[in-house]
Amino acid sequence: MANPDLYAVFGHPIRHSQSPTIHRLFADQTGQVLEYVARDVPAENFEASLRDYVASGGRGLNCTIPLKELAYGVADETSARATHCGAVNTLVLRKDGSLFGDNTDGIGLVRDLQQNLGIPLHNLDILLLGAGGAGRGILGPILACRPGQVFVANRTATRALDLVRQFDRQGKLAGGALEQLGGRCFDLVINATAASLTNDLPVLQDDILKPGGFCYDLAYASQPTAFVRWGKMHGASVSVDGIGMLVEQAAEAFRLWRGVLPETASVIDHLNQARSG
Ligand code: NAP
Repeated sequence: MANPDLYAVFGHPIRHSQSPTIHRLFADQTGQVLEYVARDVPAENFEASLRDYVASGGRGLNCTIPLKELAYGVADETSARATHCGAVNTLVLRKDGSLFGDNTDGIGLVRDLQQNLGIPLHNLDILLLGAGGAGRGILGPILACRPGQVFVANRTATRALDLVRQFDRQGKLAGGALEQLGGRCFDLVINATAASLTNDLPVLQDDILKPGGFCYDLAYASQPTAFVRWGKMHGASVSVDGIGMLVEQAAEAFRLWRGVLPETASVIDHLNQARSG
């Protein structure tokens, strides 16, 4: 039998990555013969590790924290969505040896919200918390769904304003510090800060979410994150973490590499059962 095609995720830290499990389930489901491994790669080792990986036959690569900007820098060509946010989470090794870079985070989030959770973004007023790499990656795909107004709030207000300047031709966008919200409330609050990773919560006023609104935390953990708990305590009709986004962004990467879009619902169920059991 031929050797399986090799794929990997690089990041630091990477110990708790679910990506090998997700891609094994996609491969089983679609009959693709591949191996997918997680490698701990700090930023300073990225280029050398990438060279070794390509030399050993790697066909495609996912990059996560803190490597997405570096991955953007090494790509020979990037998709429009990756070019716009300056970050790549998926590299495709083409037959001619060149590297194509894409960013599947935004489409992963939008598919989870709209298709899996049944939350159409059109006309919704959205508060986006955080203006780091993930915030930049998801803003374009969110605006493409023609929401109402999107307000980007960040601990460091200047970073939110930079993001607003970068994207303001694509939709109704404003931004600033969390304290500048001035009594406004939103249909959907998306937490794209890294606060959940340390079990923290961005500073939020109690009345920021419209009654029956939606809360979505990009972070995910074995237990509900502080933000997911906040949403449930403040009347959200849906308050979930980013496990669905993780699976959806992986499905889009799988499609880029293998030409087939896997089914995701059973994979999301599998991960949810694993963490509740
Ligand atoms: P990043 O580039 O390091 O940005 C971190 C952001 O969080 C910045 O806006 C930062 O504000 C803010 N922040 C950090 N700690 C905070 C705190 N205690 N209170 C308020 N704001 C805080 O990280 P990233 O790549 O954007 O990732 C953000 C989150 O998204 C992480 O939890 C990551 O795991 C998650 N993510 C999930 C998926 C998925 O598939 N589900 C995909 C990508 C990312 P300052 O600018 O003020 O520092």
